Amino acid sequence: MTLDTSSNVNTDSDITGRRGIVLVLCAPSGTGKTTLTKRLLKEFPRFSFSISYTTRQPREGEVHGKDYFFVTEEEFCEKRDAGFFAEWAEVHGKFYGTPKEATLNMLEQGYDIIFDIDVQGASQLYGNLKQGCYVFILPPSREELENRLRGRGTDDEATIMRRIANAQKELEQAHWFNAWIVNDDLEKAYDQLRSAYIAATLSPQSSPDLVDSIMEDWR
Ligand code: 5GP
Repeated sequence: MTLDTSSNVNTDSDITGRRGIVLVLCAPSGTGKTTLTKRLLKEFPRFSFSISYTTRQPREGEVHGKDYFFVTEEEFCEKRDAGFFAEWAEVHGKFYGTPKEATLNMLEQGYDIIFDIDVQGASQLYGNLKQGCYVFILPPSREELENRLRGRGTDDEATIMRRIANAQKELEQAHWFNAWIVNDDLEKAYDQLRSAYIAATLSPQSSPDLVDSIMEDWR
C-alpha cells in the first residue's frame, strides 16, 4: 500500500461513502496484537493509523513522523497542557499521546483509524470518541501468556514477571470494551476481529445521512 509518510494515510484507498471510525485494540503484551493489527492493515486499505507523540527515544530504524513524533518531555507537557491530545498516558515511565486535530481530520475525510494504545489511553479516548469499536484481546490463560512471553526469548525473567503483573492490571479494566476476543487460535481471533470492525462500520453514526438520502426517492 502507498503510505504518505507525513500522515500514514493510505493514498490508494476509496474513502467515500461514510465517515471514518476508530478501531482501538488493547491487549496485554504477548497476546498477538501486533500480528492482528498488521493483518487488518493489509486487508482493509481504508485504514490509516494514528501516529502518536512520545517522549521515549527512537529505537533503531524508527523514523520521526512515521513511527512516532519523538519529542522532549517539555514539548510534550506544553502540548498536553494546551489540549493538543485526544488522550495521553504515561507508559513504562514515558509519555505517549494521540494528536486530536489530526485524528478528527482523518475521520472527517473518511479514513478509519486503528489505535494501538494502552488501556488508560483507550478509556480517555472512549470519553471523547464513541463512534467506533473498542476491542480487548485476551490471552486464553495466565499459563499460556507466560509460555508465549518465554517463547519469544526476548525478555529476562524479571521482565516477564512484570509483564504478567501488568497484564492482570489491564485485564481488570477489560469490562467496558465493546468486544472481547480470546486469542487462543490466530485464525479464529482474526476472523472475530474483522467481524467486529465490519459491524462497527455499519453503525448509523458512520453514515448519518444514509437513510435520508435513500428516502429522497419517496419525496
Ligand atoms: P512502545 O514504546 O513499545 O512503542 O509502546 C509502548 C506502549 O505504549 C504500547 O503498549 C502502546 O500501546 C502504548 N502507546 C503507544 N502510543 C500510545 C498513545 O498515543 N497513547 C497511549 N495511551 N498509549 C500509547
